[in-house]
Amino acid sequence: MGSGETPIFPIQIFRLKEGVSFNPEDPNYDLFKQACAVSAKRLFPNFSFLDASFNAQYYKGTPETEVAYMGCRTRVIGNTYDPQNEVTPGRGNLSFTSINLPRLAIRAHGDLELFFDLLDQKLDLSCEQMLARFDIQKRKKVYNMPFLMGQGVWTGSENLKYDDEVGEVLKNGTLSLGFIGLAETLKCLTGEHHGESERAQNLGLEIIGHMRSYLDKRAAQSQLNFSLLATPAEGLSGRFVKMDRERYGSIEGITDREYYTNSFHVPVYYDINAFKKIELEAPYHALTNAGHISYVELDGDPTHNLEAFEAIIRHMKECGVGYGSVNHPVDRDSVCGYNGIIGDRCPKCGREEGNIPFERIRRITGYLVGTLDRFNNGKRAEESQRVKHGVAVADIESEGIVAHTDVPIEA
Ligand SMILES: [Zn+2]
Repeated sequence: MGSGETPIFPIQIFRLKEGVSFNPEDPNYDLFKQACAVSAKRLFPNFSFLDASFNAQYYKGTPETEVAYMGCRTRVIGNTYDPQNEVTPGRGNLSFTSINLPRLAIRAHGDLELFFDLLDQKLDLSCEQMLARFDIQKRKKVYNMPFLMGQGVWTGSENLKYDDEVGEVLKNGTLSLGFIGLAETLKCLTGEHHGESERAQNLGLEIIGHMRSYLDKRAAQSQLNFSLLATPAEGLSGRFVKMDRERYGSIEGITDREYYTNSFHVPVYYDINAFKKIELEAPYHALTNAGHISYVELDGDPTHNLEAFEAIIRHMKECGVGYGSVNHPVDRDSVCGYNGIIGDRCPKCGREEGNIPFERIRRITGYLVGTLDRFNNGKRAEESQRVKHGVAVADIESEGIVAHTDVPIEA
């Protein structure tokens, strides 16, 4: 922007597809390269993967059937209510409710059967709650939503009159159930999270797979779009753990931090190679049909290492990630306009951070923020504990890219 600031809104997304932009012989491969270069400098665009099986299955050669993620992760495409209308435009999410998984694990005391019983109770309760809310939503009239319904933005609303109820066309929307803290849940149930052991990863997939099949069943019974969301959890991440610490005390690896780990993510504080993290998180993308995102944290300035950046995006695609992005530090001195990484002193003008603070852009639950001051303690603690993920030269080369080695890529 004007003086070289990084625009923090809106979120931009580069959609990758084989035959269009993904492979070197594709007509828009140059745009993919440019997108990597921009994202390595500005944190956006994020990348969505149209070839992921759960996205490709809806593609019928029209723009409407290409999945389009909402910036922070929400995804609307499948349609149990109207299988002829499996598209993204003209639809949206009607409500979402998130389950505090770690609390169920704490209450189960390592008893898996009890854990799944408690989970089923919460799944029932959450769906009933969303249905109760839908009962209110569906009695609204077109005139209550003069733009969305009155102007025919929402699918099917073009045939409604000014004082008609919107209930029937609203059924094209989604009722999403989300979750938080899979990592802490697994730690509680098995002693390890899914970054630490294969056994934990298998249980993680079983838990999230169980939630998805429950919702698929509810969707089939009701003809409503019940779907599973990897919740963004901006406020929730600090709030749930605070409530649980008050109730159950500080439990190591579970309630002893200021935040619960986001959805199915490997904990931000856990030291893991970038490629390994992608491989562990990818299978959860296929299960979370209401939306998902995976992040990798890079150290240093990735504009000097675009090979590593592109290799990470390619690896996300190869592993079946639906939507992903790369985080790295983006600092700016508003006095001299320097943009890059700033430690205690601006490398361009040499000034130290005094009355005029350096702008430090970070990504919090999908959105970029120039300062963490206004954020809740949970999210601030989470940001401060993020470790950088290394990328090995062999990883880069495994994606068919020649790695140059004059820039360190191990975190
Ligand atoms: Zn400066």
